[in-house]
Amino acid sequence: MPRPIRAVISLGALAHNLERARAHAGNAGLWAVVKANAYGHGLRRAASALAGADGYALLDFEEAITLRRAGVQKPILLLEGFFNAQDLALVCEHRLTPVVHSMAQIEMLAGTPLAAPIDAYLKINSGMNRLGFTLDDVRPAWNALEANPQVRRVTLMTHFADADGASGVEAQLAWFEEIVAPFPGAPRSLANSAALLRFPETRADWVRPGIMLYGCSPFADRSAIELELEPAMTLESEIIDVQRLAPGERVGYGFSYEAAGEMTVGVVACGYADGYPRHAPSGTPVLVGGVRTRSVGRVSMDMICVDLSGFAGAGIGSRVTLWGRGLPADEVAASAGTLSYELLCALAPRVPVIEAP
Ligand SMILES: *Cc1c(COP(=O)(O)O)cnc(C)c1O
Repeated sequence: MPRPIRAVISLGALAHNLERARAHAGNAGLWAVVKANAYGHGLRRAASALAGADGYALLDFEEAITLRRAGVQKPILLLEGFFNAQDLALVCEHRLTPVVHSMAQIEMLAGTPLAAPIDAYLKINSGMNRLGFTLDDVRPAWNALEANPQVRRVTLMTHFADADGASGVEAQLAWFEEIVAPFPGAPRSLANSAALLRFPETRADWVRPGIMLYGCSPFADRSAIELELEPAMTLESEIIDVQRLAPGERVGYGFSYEAAGEMTVGVVACGYADGYPRHAPSGTPVLVGGVRTRSVGRVSMDMICVDLSGFAGAGIGSRVTLWGRGLPADEVAASAGTLSYELLCALAPRVPVIEAP
Protein backbone atom coordinates (compact mmCIF):
# COMPACT_ATOMS: atom_id res chain seq x y z
CA MET A 1 0.00 0.00 0.00
CA PRO A 2 1.43 3.39 -0.93
CA ARG A 3 1.31 6.11 1.67
CA PRO A 4 -2.08 7.73 1.06
CA ILE A 5 -0.89 11.26 0.30
CA ARG A 6 -1.20 12.64 -3.24
CA ALA A 7 -1.52 15.88 -5.17
CA VAL A 8 -4.30 15.94 -7.73
CA ILE A 9 -3.70 18.39 -10.57
CA SER A 10 -6.81 19.46 -12.45
CA LEU A 11 -6.00 20.13 -16.09
CA GLY A 12 -9.48 21.58 -16.56
CA ALA A 13 -8.87 24.10 -13.77
CA LEU A 14 -5.64 25.25 -15.44
CA ALA A 15 -7.46 25.72 -18.75
CA HIS A 16 -10.34 27.50 -17.02
CA ASN A 17 -8.00 29.89 -15.20
CA LEU A 18 -6.19 30.66 -18.45
CA GLU A 19 -9.57 31.62 -19.90
CA ARG A 20 -10.10 33.94 -16.93
CA ALA A 21 -6.71 35.55 -17.54
CA ARG A 22 -7.58 35.95 -21.22
CA ALA A 23 -10.85 37.61 -20.30
CA HIS A 24 -8.87 40.28 -18.43
CA ALA A 25 -6.06 40.56 -20.96
CA GLY A 26 -8.04 42.00 -23.88
CA ASN A 27 -5.91 41.79 -27.00
CA ALA A 28 -2.60 41.55 -25.16
CA GLY A 29 -0.36 38.55 -25.74
CA LEU A 30 -0.21 36.22 -22.75
CA TRP A 31 2.87 34.64 -21.24
CA ALA A 32 1.84 31.78 -18.97
CA VAL A 33 4.33 32.00 -16.11
CA VAL A 34 5.44 28.41 -15.47
CA LYS A 35 8.59 28.99 -13.43
CA ALA A 36 9.41 26.74 -10.46
CA ASN A 37 8.00 23.62 -12.10
CA ALA A 38 4.82 25.55 -12.93
CA TYR A 39 4.39 26.63 -9.31
CA GLY A 40 4.71 22.99 -8.27
CA HIS A 41 2.12 21.65 -10.73
CA GLY A 42 4.57 19.93 -13.09
CA LEU A 43 6.06 21.88 -15.97
CA ARG A 44 5.16 19.70 -18.94
CA ARG A 45 1.71 18.91 -17.62
CA ALA A 46 0.93 22.57 -16.93
CA ALA A 47 2.36 23.77 -20.24
CA SER A 48 0.17 21.34 -22.08
CA ALA A 49 -2.96 22.29 -20.10
CA LEU A 50 -2.06 25.95 -20.74
CA ALA A 51 -1.47 25.39 -24.46
CA GLY A 52 -3.78 28.32 -25.22
CA ALA A 53 -1.15 30.77 -23.96
CA ASP A 54 0.98 32.69 -26.47
CA GLY A 55 4.22 31.72 -24.77
CA TYR A 56 5.75 30.47 -21.53
CA ALA A 57 7.80 32.43 -19.01
CA LEU A 58 10.25 30.72 -16.67
CA LEU A 59 13.84 31.11 -15.61
CA ASP A 60 15.75 27.81 -15.61
CA PHE A 61 17.48 26.81 -18.82
CA GLU A 62 16.73 23.21 -17.86
CA GLU A 63 13.02 23.97 -17.78
CA ALA A 64 13.17 25.87 -21.08
CA ILE A 65 14.95 22.95 -22.75
CA THR A 66 12.46 20.50 -21.23
CA LEU A 67 9.66 22.40 -22.95
CA ARG A 68 11.49 22.49 -26.30
CA ARG A 69 12.21 18.74 -26.07
CA ALA A 70 8.51 18.19 -25.36
CA GLY A 71 7.80 19.83 -28.71
CA VAL A 72 6.77 23.29 -27.50
CA GLN A 73 7.21 25.71 -30.40
CA LYS A 74 5.87 28.87 -28.78
CA PRO A 75 8.12 31.65 -27.50
CA ILE A 76 9.81 31.06 -24.15
CA LEU A 77 10.75 34.05 -22.01
CA LEU A 78 13.68 33.71 -19.59
CA LEU A 79 12.70 35.97 -16.70
CA GLU A 80 16.26 36.33 -15.36
CA GLY A 81 17.87 36.19 -18.80
CA PHE A 82 21.22 34.45 -19.17
CA PHE A 83 23.82 34.12 -16.45
CA ASN A 84 27.02 33.83 -18.47
CA ALA A 85 28.20 34.12 -22.08
CA GLN A 86 28.09 30.35 -22.61
CA ASP A 87 24.34 30.41 -21.98
CA LEU A 88 23.89 32.40 -25.19
CA ALA A 89 24.51 29.31 -27.32
CA LEU A 90 21.50 27.69 -25.58
CA VAL A 91 19.45 30.86 -26.04
CA CYS A 92 20.02 30.62 -29.81
CA GLU A 93 19.73 26.88 -30.12
CA HIS A 94 16.39 26.78 -28.29
CA ARG A 95 15.07 30.09 -29.59
CA LEU A 96 14.63 31.59 -26.13
CA THR A 97 13.81 35.23 -25.39
CA PRO A 98 16.03 36.47 -22.56
CA VAL A 99 15.26 39.33 -20.24
CA VAL A 100 18.24 41.69 -20.26
CA HIS A 101 18.50 43.53 -16.96
CA SER A 102 22.18 44.44 -16.54
CA MET A 103 25.07 46.02 -18.43
CA ALA A 104 27.01 42.82 -17.77
CA GLN A 105 24.49 40.93 -19.91
CA ILE A 106 24.60 43.57 -22.62
CA GLU A 107 28.38 43.23 -22.78
CA MET A 108 28.14 39.43 -22.97
CA LEU A 109 25.69 39.82 -25.85
CA ALA A 110 27.93 42.27 -27.69
CA GLY A 111 30.98 40.06 -27.22
CA THR A 112 29.49 36.71 -28.23
CA PRO A 113 28.80 35.73 -31.83
CA LEU A 114 25.33 34.14 -32.08
CA ALA A 115 24.26 31.46 -34.52
CA ALA A 116 20.96 33.28 -35.11
CA PRO A 117 19.46 36.62 -34.06
CA ILE A 118 17.35 36.70 -30.89
CA ASP A 119 14.54 38.77 -29.41
CA ALA A 120 15.09 40.34 -26.01
CA TYR A 121 13.14 41.92 -23.19
CA LEU A 122 14.76 45.03 -21.74
CA LYS A 123 13.92 45.20 -18.07
CA ILE A 124 13.21 48.58 -16.54
CA ASN A 125 13.53 49.18 -12.81
CA SER A 126 10.47 51.33 -12.15
CA GLY A 127 10.88 51.35 -8.39
CA MET A 128 10.99 47.77 -7.12
CA ASN A 129 14.80 48.00 -7.08
CA ARG A 130 15.36 44.36 -7.77
CA LEU A 131 16.32 43.94 -11.44
CA GLY A 132 16.48 46.39 -14.32
CA PHE A 133 17.75 49.63 -15.78
CA THR A 134 16.52 52.96 -14.59
CA LEU A 135 16.43 56.44 -16.10
CA ASP A 136 20.13 57.09 -16.56
CA ASP A 137 21.20 53.70 -17.85
CA VAL A 138 18.24 52.78 -20.05
CA ARG A 139 19.43 54.88 -23.00
CA PRO A 140 22.89 53.26 -23.21
CA ALA A 141 21.31 49.83 -22.74
CA TRP A 142 18.76 50.45 -25.47
CA ASN A 143 21.39 51.85 -27.84
CA ALA A 144 23.66 48.85 -27.29
CA LEU A 145 20.83 46.44 -28.09
CA GLU A 146 19.72 48.44 -31.13
CA ALA A 147 23.30 48.60 -32.41
CA ASN A 148 23.71 44.84 -32.04
CA PRO A 149 22.69 43.16 -35.33
CA GLN A 150 22.19 39.90 -33.39
CA VAL A 151 19.24 41.40 -31.50
CA ARG A 152 15.95 41.56 -33.35
CA ARG A 153 12.94 42.89 -31.48
CA VAL A 154 13.27 44.56 -28.08
CA THR A 155 10.28 44.63 -25.73
CA LEU A 156 10.29 46.95 -22.73
CA MET A 157 9.22 45.36 -19.48
CA THR A 158 8.88 46.15 -15.81
CA HIS A 159 7.59 44.35 -12.73
CA PHE A 160 5.32 45.71 -9.99
CA ALA A 161 6.25 45.43 -6.33
CA ASP A 162 2.81 46.06 -4.83
CA ALA A 163 0.12 45.51 -7.46
CA ASP A 164 -1.72 43.47 -4.82
CA GLY A 165 -1.15 45.95 -2.00
CA ALA A 166 -1.88 49.42 -0.73
CA SER A 167 0.57 51.22 -3.03
CA GLY A 168 -0.90 49.70 -6.19
CA VAL A 169 0.86 50.47 -9.47
CA GLU A 170 0.32 54.19 -9.98
CA ALA A 171 3.77 55.46 -9.06
CA GLN A 172 5.66 52.66 -10.81
CA LEU A 173 3.49 52.97 -13.90
CA ALA A 174 4.14 56.72 -14.12
CA TRP A 175 7.87 56.24 -13.62
CA PHE A 176 7.99 53.42 -16.20
CA GLU A 177 6.24 55.62 -18.73
CA GLU A 178 8.65 58.44 -18.14
CA ILE A 179 11.68 56.15 -18.51
CA VAL A 180 10.44 54.54 -21.74
CA ALA A 181 9.01 57.70 -23.31
CA PRO A 182 12.00 57.98 -25.70
CA PHE A 183 11.16 54.55 -27.19
CA PRO A 184 7.54 54.96 -28.28
CA GLY A 185 7.34 52.18 -30.87
CA ALA A 186 8.62 49.33 -28.70
CA PRO A 187 6.18 46.74 -27.34
CA ARG A 188 5.67 46.63 -23.55
CA SER A 189 4.99 44.05 -20.86
CA LEU A 190 4.09 44.94 -17.28
CA ALA A 191 1.31 42.98 -15.62
CA ASN A 192 1.57 40.03 -13.24
CA SER A 193 -1.68 38.44 -11.99
CA ALA A 194 -2.46 41.16 -9.48
CA ALA A 195 -1.96 43.99 -11.95
CA LEU A 196 -3.90 42.15 -14.65
CA LEU A 197 -6.88 41.60 -12.34
CA ARG A 198 -6.87 45.01 -10.69
CA PHE A 199 -5.39 47.54 -13.11
CA PRO A 200 -6.54 47.11 -16.72
CA GLU A 201 -4.35 50.07 -17.70
CA THR A 202 -1.29 47.83 -17.21
CA ARG A 203 -2.22 45.29 -19.91
CA ALA A 204 -0.02 46.84 -22.60
CA ASP A 205 1.18 44.36 -25.27
CA TRP A 206 2.01 41.28 -23.19
CA VAL A 207 0.74 40.20 -19.78
CA ARG A 208 2.52 37.75 -17.46
CA PRO A 209 0.04 36.02 -15.14
CA GLY A 210 1.34 33.27 -12.85
CA ILE A 211 -0.50 32.55 -9.62
CA MET A 212 -4.00 33.09 -11.02
CA LEU A 213 -3.42 30.32 -13.58
CA TYR A 214 -3.06 27.93 -10.66
CA GLY A 215 -6.33 29.09 -9.13
CA CYS A 216 -5.04 31.18 -6.25
CA SER A 217 -5.64 34.82 -5.49
CA PRO A 218 -2.81 37.33 -5.47
CA PHE A 219 -4.84 39.48 -3.05
CA ALA A 220 -5.20 39.20 0.72
CA ASP A 221 -8.72 40.62 0.55
CA ARG A 222 -10.22 38.99 -2.56
CA SER A 223 -10.65 35.24 -2.67
CA ALA A 224 -9.99 32.99 -5.64
CA ILE A 225 -13.72 32.20 -5.62
CA GLU A 226 -14.61 35.88 -6.01
CA LEU A 227 -12.13 36.02 -8.88
CA GLU A 228 -13.79 32.96 -10.44
CA LEU A 229 -10.62 30.91 -10.34
CA GLU A 230 -10.53 27.16 -9.75
CA PRO A 231 -7.84 25.49 -7.64
CA ALA A 232 -5.53 23.49 -9.89
CA MET A 233 -3.78 21.57 -7.11
CA THR A 234 -5.55 19.59 -4.39
CA LEU A 235 -3.31 18.05 -1.74
CA GLU A 236 -5.04 15.03 -0.24
CA SER A 237 -4.22 12.39 2.30
CA GLU A 238 -5.96 10.18 4.84
CA ILE A 239 -6.32 9.68 8.55
CA ILE A 240 -3.88 6.91 9.49
CA ASP A 241 -4.60 6.74 13.23
CA VAL A 242 -6.92 8.13 15.88
CA GLN A 243 -6.19 9.15 19.48
CA ARG A 244 -8.69 9.82 22.25
CA LEU A 245 -7.52 12.47 24.66
CA ALA A 246 -8.66 13.16 28.20
CA PRO A 247 -8.82 16.78 29.38
CA GLY A 248 -5.29 18.12 29.95
CA GLU A 249 -3.59 15.62 27.63
CA ARG A 250 -1.38 17.08 24.98
CA VAL A 251 -0.48 16.42 21.35
CA GLY A 252 2.73 16.26 19.33
CA TYR A 253 6.20 17.82 19.56
CA GLY A 254 6.65 20.41 22.24
CA PHE A 255 3.27 19.39 23.74
CA SER A 256 2.09 22.66 22.25
CA TYR A 257 -1.62 21.79 22.15
CA GLU A 258 -3.53 20.75 25.24
CA ALA A 259 -7.02 19.24 25.13
CA ALA A 260 -9.46 21.39 27.07
CA GLY A 261 -11.98 18.58 27.31
CA GLU A 262 -12.30 15.07 25.95
CA MET A 263 -11.38 15.07 22.33
CA THR A 264 -10.68 12.82 19.37
CA VAL A 265 -7.61 13.54 17.30
CA GLY A 266 -6.92 12.20 13.80
CA VAL A 267 -3.37 11.68 12.60
CA VAL A 268 -2.93 12.66 8.94
CA ALA A 269 -0.18 11.33 6.67
CA CYS A 270 1.15 14.73 5.61
CA GLY A 271 3.95 16.79 7.13
CA TYR A 272 6.49 19.40 6.26
CA ALA A 273 8.55 16.88 4.25
CA ASP A 274 5.55 16.76 1.92
CA GLY A 275 5.48 20.54 1.61
CA TYR A 276 2.93 21.32 4.31
CA PRO A 277 4.07 24.52 6.06
CA ARG A 278 5.69 23.74 9.41
CA HIS A 279 4.67 27.15 10.73
CA ALA A 280 0.94 26.42 10.36
CA PRO A 281 -0.33 26.84 13.93
CA SER A 282 -3.07 24.91 15.72
CA GLY A 283 -6.34 26.05 14.16
CA THR A 284 -5.23 25.89 10.53
CA PRO A 285 -8.22 24.70 8.46
CA VAL A 286 -8.27 21.11 7.17
CA LEU A 287 -11.10 19.13 5.53
CA VAL A 288 -11.96 15.63 6.73
CA GLY A 289 -14.45 13.89 4.46
CA GLY A 290 -15.10 17.30 2.91
CA VAL A 291 -16.00 18.86 6.27
CA ARG A 292 -13.93 21.61 7.79
CA THR A 293 -11.97 21.07 10.97
CA ARG A 294 -8.65 22.40 12.27
CA SER A 295 -5.15 21.22 12.94
CA VAL A 296 -3.96 20.72 16.51
CA GLY A 297 -0.35 20.77 17.69
CA ARG A 298 2.84 21.17 15.70
CA VAL A 299 3.32 20.05 12.14
CA SER A 300 5.89 17.27 12.14
CA MET A 301 7.96 15.95 9.24
CA ASP A 302 5.47 13.33 8.12
CA MET A 303 2.25 13.96 10.03
CA ILE A 304 -0.16 16.52 11.34
CA CYS A 305 -2.97 16.05 13.84
CA VAL A 306 -6.51 17.28 13.38
CA ASP A 307 -9.49 17.71 15.69
CA LEU A 308 -12.06 14.98 14.99
CA SER A 309 -14.35 15.80 17.93
CA GLY A 310 -17.89 15.56 16.67
CA PHE A 311 -16.86 13.77 13.45
CA ALA A 312 -18.97 10.67 14.10
CA GLY A 313 -18.09 8.78 10.93
CA ALA A 314 -14.43 9.75 10.71
CA GLY A 315 -11.62 7.32 11.42
CA ILE A 316 -8.69 5.53 9.85
CA GLY A 317 -8.97 5.86 6.07
CA SER A 318 -11.09 9.03 6.11
CA ARG A 319 -10.16 11.36 3.28
CA VAL A 320 -8.36 14.57 4.19
CA THR A 321 -7.88 17.68 2.07
CA LEU A 322 -4.95 19.87 3.07
CA TRP A 323 -5.68 22.46 0.38
CA GLY A 324 -7.31 22.74 -3.02
CA ARG A 325 -10.90 21.84 -3.88
CA GLY A 326 -13.10 22.99 -1.01
CA LEU A 327 -10.25 24.60 0.92
CA PRO A 328 -8.34 27.43 -0.79
CA ALA A 329 -4.55 27.20 -0.47
CA ASP A 330 -4.73 30.95 0.19
CA GLU A 331 -6.52 30.29 3.49
CA VAL A 332 -4.05 27.67 4.66
CA ALA A 333 -1.18 29.95 3.64
CA ALA A 334 -2.67 32.90 5.53
CA SER A 335 -2.97 30.78 8.64
CA ALA A 336 0.71 29.82 8.31
CA GLY A 337 1.80 33.42 7.72
CA THR A 338 2.78 32.84 4.10
CA LEU A 339 1.35 32.91 0.57
CA SER A 340 -0.22 30.23 -1.58
CA TYR A 341 2.75 30.75 -3.94
CA GLU A 342 5.06 29.22 -1.35
CA LEU A 343 2.79 26.29 -0.55
CA LEU A 344 2.35 25.33 -4.20
CA CYS A 345 6.06 25.63 -5.08
CA ALA A 346 7.05 23.67 -1.99
CA LEU A 347 5.09 20.54 -2.89
CA ALA A 348 7.73 17.89 -2.21
CA PRO A 349 9.00 15.50 -4.86
CA ARG A 350 8.00 12.56 -2.66
CA VAL A 351 4.30 13.38 -3.07
CA PRO A 352 2.80 11.36 -5.93
CA VAL A 353 1.00 13.51 -8.46
CA ILE A 354 -2.05 12.39 -10.36
CA GLU A 355 -3.86 14.24 -13.12
CA ALA A 356 -7.57 14.87 -13.16
CA PRO A 357 -9.55 16.17 -16.14
C1 LIG B 1 6.71 35.39 -11.22
C2 LIG B 1 6.60 36.53 -12.14
C3 LIG B 1 5.36 36.88 -12.70
C4 LIG B 1 4.07 36.20 -12.30
O1 LIG B 1 3.65 36.73 -11.06
P1 LIG B 1 2.26 36.28 -10.37
O2 LIG B 1 2.17 37.13 -9.18
O3 LIG B 1 2.44 34.83 -10.03
O4 LIG B 1 1.20 36.48 -11.37
C5 LIG B 1 5.34 37.89 -13.64
N1 LIG B 1 6.47 38.55 -13.99
C6 LIG B 1 7.67 38.27 -13.44
C7 LIG B 1 8.86 39.04 -13.85
C8 LIG B 1 7.76 37.26 -12.50
O5 LIG B 1 8.96 36.98 -11.96
